[in-house]
Amino acid sequence: MHVSLAQASTILKSGEVVAIPTETVYGLAADASNDSALQKIFATKQRPADHPLIVHIGNINQVYSWVTDFPETAVKLAQTFWPGPLTLVLPAQDHVSRVLRGNEATVALRVPNHPTTLALLELSGLSVAAPSANLFTQLSPTTAEHVEMGLGTHVPVLDGGACAVGIESTIVSVASNGNWQLLRPGMISEAEIALVAGRPPMNVDKTNRNNLDTLTPKVPGQHLLHYSPCTSVYLFNNRADLVHACEAIQLANQTCAALLIGDGDKPSCKIMRLINQPQEVAEALYRTLHELDALQVNQLLVELPPDTPIWAAVRDRLTRAGGSATESLRSQVISK
Ligand code: AMP
Ligand code: MG
Repeated sequence: MHVSLAQASTILKSGEVVAIPTETVYGLAADASNDSALQKIFATKQRPADHPLIVHIGNINQVYSWVTDFPETAVKLAQTFWPGPLTLVLPAQDHVSRVLRGNEATVALRVPNHPTTLALLELSGLSVAAPSANLFTQLSPTTAEHVEMGLGTHVPVLDGGACAVGIESTIVSVASNGNWQLLRPGMISEAEIALVAGRPPMNVDKTNRNNLDTLTPKVPGQHLLHYSPCTSVYLFNNRADLVHACEAIQLANQTCAALLIGDGDKPSCKIMRLINQPQEVAEALYRTLHELDALQVNQLLVELPPDTPIWAAVRDRLTRAGGSATESLRSQVISK
């Protein structure tokens, strides 16, 4: 059910959920200060309670009402990348809802770069928690139509067009001493963060338990199987293996379709080819996976981009879409 900006604002203020556009993916939004509204996000998404939610705020000054400390490194990152696809995880003030932060001592904050989202924050006067507007572990939505396909047409959606970035934000945690760590790769790369932070990411000696307890930020909610289509996904690091797997699948009288990145050989099944640029691939990634999923073939064959820093975020999402142990799955296909 599509709603207007004014209706979305009223829905949020009445403690209900509404799907909203952002530049990353569509979010399922609720008032971040209202526990019963936040519970509705978890219930609608069927999301486990230990997956904390990101709070979307209207501007950098609002950070001070959420955190005990806004270290200089985090200030620099916020000034450089906000509004934009960067989430900062910082020490939370006591009043911050435990439902929101999944019982962590930290809170995750971001100023989104989408005119409709910013207008909604302004009009409602609220900060909103907004994880992706899909069922837990499924493909993220990048259009209002994806939201309705995934959650049902009874969920109110504010349509703001297709998302320009197309994948979830980069998440960086910053400790009070300015040490930082990448919790989730996104289109703002680790190298860009390091450049602005003026120091490399924190290196933790994982053999030292004391270090682990005191220094390592927890990374809740990073399940291996996430962002997944309904069709099973096999991942390939090279095109020749993908083409062979397609032949084997077809010999076994099964059907497949493939997502290819860049030029080169193609398998003898339905393909979707994305151009060989990280920004373009990210923008089209979920839409293309939704389209491939809708073909209802037995298997999706997905080519991974190179294992280089500029492709880190796209590889992360594709690897999670494929779950674990793809290599062994592939050998099963080939040996069928
Ligand atoms: P999303 O699923 O895109 O809403 O992103 C939520 C993810 O952000 C969580 O699964 C965590 O990895 C991270 N996150 C959110 N809040 C916190 C927090 N308070 N502390 C640490 N990580 C967080
Ligand atoms: Mg999500």
